[in-house]
Amino acid sequence: MTQTPESRPTALAGTDFVPGPVLLLGAPGVGKGTQAQLLVTKYNIPQISTGDLLRGNIARGTELGLKAKEIMSSGHLVDDEIVNQMVLHRLQEKDTHRGYILDGYPRNLEQATFLDHTVADPIYLPRLPVIAVSIVVSYDKLLARITGRRNCPVCKHIYNVCANPPKVAGVCDLDGASLTQRGDDTEQVFIERMKTFQAQTAPVIAHYHDQGRFEEADGNQGVEAVNVAIEQAILKLRRAPRG
Ligand SMILES: [Zn+2]
Repeated sequence: MTQTPESRPTALAGTDFVPGPVLLLGAPGVGKGTQAQLLVTKYNIPQISTGDLLRGNIARGTELGLKAKEIMSSGHLVDDEIVNQMVLHRLQEKDTHRGYILDGYPRNLEQATFLDHTVADPIYLPRLPVIAVSIVVSYDKLLARITGRRNCPVCKHIYNVCANPPKVAGVCDLDGASLTQRGDDTEQVFIERMKTFQAQTAPVIAHYHDQGRFEEADGNQGVEAVNVAIEQAILKLRRAPRG
């Protein structure tokens, strides 16, 4: 019998691993969308985002969708109760049985508490508590990513003057058009967005942190390395003893 050498450089989870509900957090620009997609593919679980749920319910003309549409057309934000109910319905679908990636929900303490009660209910599977992983990128790096962004007005290709520059500065590689910078990709707008993000997220992080269900993943590295960091955080949280 030949022994197969350890082929995995890191202790990543096998396909039988049940990730359960995972809340992915991160400031604008940390690459949350890319990382969520990688987890969806790796674990074969759905991503549940409130934006998608809202659009889906409105498109299907569900009772909740009609209510949400009415609220939104009057210029208001859809309240917690409607969002909670949309999530509740979504979590009853079969594809969530091994877990799911939560994106943009829970956004506040009320939603987090509601979700905790929901997932603890025996009708929902997997009966695992929600764990939260925050992708953390340094302020300077995030600022450089956002203020370095350049767009091609013709083909819509996005460049970054540091991470992904065009061959000739200010010119699109694909069609030679002059690159532009979006008006809101500035430091001032970034600072405001960060303030809003931190104010909204802090109570949610505190909620999971207090219960030993929160980890950070270092986002100051390449996409693959960040993905490994997130998976390690998930494994650590799932292995952690709970009282
Ligand atoms: Zn172009």
